[in-house]
Amino acid sequence: MPSPLSGSVPQSVIIAGGGIAGIAAALRLAEAGVAVTLLETRKKLGGRATSFVDVRSGAILDNCQHVVLGCCTNYLDLLARLGESDKITWTDVQWWIEPGGRTSVIRPGPLPAPGHFSFSMLGVRFLSWPEVSSLARAMLAVLRVDRTRWRDRTFAQFLAQQGQSERVIRRFWTPVIVSACNLEPHKVAASSALHVFQEGFLAHRDAASIGVSTVPLVQLYDRAEEVIRAAGGTIELGCSVERVEPGAVITGGGGGGGGGGGERLTADRVICALPVERAIDALPESDPRLPLMRRFTHSPILGVHLVFDRPVLTTPHAVLVDCAVQWLFRKDEAGRSLHAVISGADDWMPLTEAQIGERVLADIRRCIPAARGATLLSVRAVKEKRATFAPTPEVEASRPPALAPGSEDHVILAGDYTATGWPATMEGATRSGYAAAAAVLGRPARELVVPDIQVALGARLLGLSPPSHREEGMKAGR
Ligand SMILES: Cc1cc2nc3c(=O)[nH]c(=O)nc-3n(C[C@H](O)[C@H](O)[C@H](O)COP(=O)(O)OP(=O)(O)OC[C@H]3O[C@@H](n4cnc5c(N)ncnc54)[C@H](O)[C@@H]3O)c2cc1C
Repeated sequence: MPSPLSGSVPQSVIIAGGGIAGIAAALRLAEAGVAVTLLETRKKLGGRATSFVDVRSGAILDNCQHVVLGCCTNYLDLLARLGESDKITWTDVQWWIEPGGRTSVIRPGPLPAPGHFSFSMLGVRFLSWPEVSSLARAMLAVLRVDRTRWRDRTFAQFLAQQGQSERVIRRFWTPVIVSACNLEPHKVAASSALHVFQEGFLAHRDAASIGVSTVPLVQLYDRAEEVIRAAGGTIELGCSVERVEPGAVITGGGGGGGGGGGERLTADRVICALPVERAIDALPESDPRLPLMRRFTHSPILGVHLVFDRPVLTTPHAVLVDCAVQWLFRKDEAGRSLHAVISGADDWMPLTEAQIGERVLADIRRCIPAARGATLLSVRAVKEKRATFAPTPEVEASRPPALAPGSEDHVILAGDYTATGWPATMEGATRSGYAAAAAVLGRPARELVVPDIQVALGARLLGLSPPSHREEGMKAGR
């Protein structure tokens, strides 16, 4: 039988799944002196934030560009614990490029938050003056609204209530929200989208700073293996978990790792950090969270690696206004090697790589005049069909807690899909891992989960209220 959570601290914990949630839980538990065994089916840690060797070029490519924002306090804490903070390069500037090449620069100005983007927004050229003024009014409403009351409605409904025109929605709100939540405004729960603007734009002048890794994503987690092992933990790579129970896991028959195959491994506690669709199959049928978890659906993301024969993009990244491609990232100094990201990419999934290349190239040529004379030398499209859960109102209402309600004798859940209050992100995954570790240690989640970015005084005076956010985030623990 597993140790009761409220009793003595468990001596041993098995964690199924070595994505960011599993890594975060393993690290915090190993630091606390618990004997951790982390089981991961792949040969590398990192899960969906990963890289692969491209057989055509031999290059190590990320499955997709991953972005961290300044408001991601827990993921940044995880990188610091791994000694990898210096692998992130930061900018607080956003370049928005319209078809035809006109560029608007959005960056924090002299005013304190939440007014830090005001000067930039007054200068944007992809919206008219009346549109910027209507956007400012909507932002004031975003500041004041209690987002937890908008969980059962879509963001499109919120924007309609604020009188946002179709053009402002298409040119401003949609690219931000599709990129952050991986779902369009008419599908995404308003609470999730409001979270992005409240925490990621308005709370603090550094909240929207954009960080990207300077090394392939997979290398960020190499140190996790060392650090967890150095703290006395065990990592079994290539070990597939079939079933998770309150005090045991059963590994799969084909597992090639040290966990063997068809083996029953026991521990005081078990954390299930598998993706939601795998967790559904692995949990005991009696787990009361399963009906919620079965409501989850997914949304795809497409990452496209492109190499041109000459420099195309001069800025580190660009948002393409009014295009199917939402973000472009420059992947080399010269700007010949680019990465295009299409979130909410359902329509792209049936396309061939050649068709994808053509469509992406068309958007790039529409917006970046320098690309019109450039030849596209190679295209590598990576389709992630189950990139993230789809944060619809129904799914947002179904996010399961780390601990089964009313019982301590259940598998502890971790993963970006659990009730962290965050969209499916590396931050959400880290929070869930820290909260799961807190649950094992019998401590309140807030003792291990790093607080949100501090809400600036001006934002608080205008109505942004931190306490409701904190309560929401704590649901992952107890
Ligand atoms: C294309 C794409 C782009 C993204 N962009 C961003 C971004 O820009 N910013 C951001 O913050 N987030 C982004 N995300 C989301 C982010 O990657 C995820 O939210 C996060 O990595 C989820 O971590 P996790 O640990 O919860 O789940 P996972 O990463 O899914 O981890 C689960 C782990 O369990 C393992 N596993 C599965 N089955 C078994 C089994 N049977 N036995 C043992 N192990 C098993 C998996 O291999 C995996 O390692 C993106 C995701 C994708 C796919």
